[in-house]
Amino acid sequence: MENCLFCKIANGEIPSHTLYEDEHTLAFLDINPVHPGHALVIPKIHSANIFDIDAPSWTRVCETVRRIAQPIEKATGASGINVMMNNRDTAGQVIDHTHVHVIPRHRGDGLRLWPQKPYARGAAENIAEKIRENMEKA
Ligand code: AMP
Ligand code: ZN
Repeated sequence: MENCLFCKIANGEIPSHTLYEDEHTLAFLDINPVHPGHALVIPKIHSANIFDIDAPSWTRVCETVRRIAQPIEKATGASGINVMMNNRDTAGQVIDHTHVHVIPRHRGDGLRLWPQKPYARGAAENIAEKIRENMEKA
């Protein structure tokens, strides 16, 4: 897609530190890492996010995430990996080309994820039912 930064990285118009590449996907270093070795995995064909990507492309992205997770952990001396994805600006997505963050973590690095809290009585049943109703019929 024209004027998409990650399409330009995928086709080599804009340089990146490539970690892994195959016909359908690319893994490269995030320019602004949480920790060194923080990588992004993208499909080479443009899609905007999890709502937009086709199932085969998504499977390929996930497989590339799996393939680079261990090399990143080993190379960085990390003892854990976060696999994260932001979808839509509300959820923190800045670049509108599907990408998955692969972030090495170090014990005691002080990073916090998000606050959580238990459901009120009956609320879990309600939302579970609504989500099931919205599942695509296979
Ligand atoms: P998100 O907030 O999930 O859309 O994340 C976008 C990510 O892309 C951020 O972590 C940026 O640091 C990263 N980023 C932006 N421009 C580049 C670039 N030219 N090369 C590598 N990573 C980039
Ligand atoms: Zn794109």
